[in-house]
Amino acid sequence: MKRIGVLAFQGGVIEHVKKIDEVGCVPVLVKKNEDLEGVDGLILPGGESTTIGKFLIETGLKEKILKLAEEGLPVWGTCAGAILLSKSIKNQGSGVLPLLDIVIERNAYGSQLDSFKKEVFVPRLNKVSECVFIRAPKIVEVFSNVEVLAQLDTPIAVLQGKILATTFHPELTSQNYWHSFFVENVVK
Ligand code: GLN
Repeated sequence: MKRIGVLAFQGGVIEHVKKIDEVGCVPVLVKKNEDLEGVDGLILPGGESTTIGKFLIETGLKEKILKLAEEGLPVWGTCAGAILLSKSIKNQGSGVLPLLDIVIERNAYGSQLDSFKKEVFVPRLNKVSECVFIRAPKIVEVFSNVEVLAQLDTPIAVLQGKILATTFHPELTSQNYWHSFFVENVVK
């Protein structure tokens, strides 16, 4: 059975753990370098990207994850996780794990009160995906090596090699489409 790590400092950890279990994989809570041993993929949950980034640096997980990603570890960032993966954060330098050739803008839809839900057809999944946006970032630029999987006014799901990012929260719906996609098409 595939083992999928979920970075477990802060944010939507338990929700991802449940989904990983539902799609028939073993969830592994990741808080230190050793927890990554033998994982087949890693999820960076939503939450607060500055806080999660601080933990990544303090624990040394930043270097470890970057090295493993270079060796081919599939990584999926949701919302704050997507921010961490961005090579460029508008007006704020780069993400702590800058693996994705995109420019992202934090809190681009407004405050917590401007959170919203939207149904979006995703050709690659051949499904209508329920997308929950909570103080979500916007992907404002995508370089040519990045595949856009879903789009509203701007891209909301992108894939570059084995690095997946969604600006919304698939773990907060009753659907398992994105978790299945990550496990079957990115981790494989
Ligand atoms: N606004 C948060 C940030 O900038 C992300 C919100 C989320 O993950 N739901 O880190």
